[in-house]
Amino acid sequence: MTKPLHTRFAPSPTGLLHLGHAYSALFTAEQAQQTGGRFILRMEDIDPVRCRAEFEDAIYDDLAWLGLEWEQPVRRQSEHMDDYGQALATLEGMGLLYPCFCTRKEIKAEIEHAAHAPHHSGIGPDGPLYPGTCRTLSEDDRQSRKQAGGPFALRLHMEKARAAANHPLVWRDLGQGEITASPEIFGDVVLARKDTPTSYHLAVTIDDHLQGITLVTRGEDLLPSTHVHRLLQDLLGLDVPQYRHHGLITCDEGKRLAKRDASQTIRALRAAGKSPADVRKMAGL
Ligand code: GLU
Repeated sequence: MTKPLHTRFAPSPTGLLHLGHAYSALFTAEQAQQTGGRFILRMEDIDPVRCRAEFEDAIYDDLAWLGLEWEQPVRRQSEHMDDYGQALATLEGMGLLYPCFCTRKEIKAEIEHAAHAPHHSGIGPDGPLYPGTCRTLSEDDRQSRKQAGGPFALRLHMEKARAAANHPLVWRDLGQGEITASPEIFGDVVLARKDTPTSYHLAVTIDDHLQGITLVTRGEDLLPSTHVHRLLQDLLGLDVPQYRHHGLITCDEGKRLAKRDASQTIRALRAAGKSPADVRKMAGL
């Protein structure tokens, strides 16, 4: 008999769900149902500026309309900063984090400057890599800049983290087979942001472990992130789920749907008289 797969749908309440989310949520719930596993809904609401209660309410409402049922209570990441803080303290204790005081503008200027140098840092999945300006600050500098009270992020020292982790790091992707993690493609990734004391990468990895998720399903646009998540799992001694990065629903012009594509939101489809069964069909399920 197949082992039960415990899955989760983890939207960020920064806008209305669209057809692509409907596909992802229904697909994810189905993976759990088919194997007798649990289906969990999680609110990834760490962004204090972009997340809104009205979007969270709309997510519950739209998913229920689609016929989904999930476990209560829903874990809201904004209520669990202590868990992320503990993980940061562990990584800090391993000497793998450093504070970064750079503004976006400073990073941009440094990258433009470095682009003319022979050894510039390169491009990662989220754009140009951090050029490492704060990596080499002295401890004294760090302390005095912290005392001056300016905001700072915490970055993972990727080279040290790689050296501290096991080799090779692999994960099993149900669509693509065994994948070897190359987290260095992200450079010194931010694990705690200036405006919120965690990050997508850290919070999602900790939560998947704490919630006992055994199959992470999400769009293939997030596959690169899994390289970082696999590294964090290794460094923090977390369970390693299986992964399934599914294809993305595109609009007529072949572009992927975004939260701003108003006509394809579940809200708009409902208002246009579509039934949950119609939406399932439109999503190709
Ligand atoms: N919160 C992320 C999003 O809405 C998804 C996270 C994940 O599935 O890993 O794009």
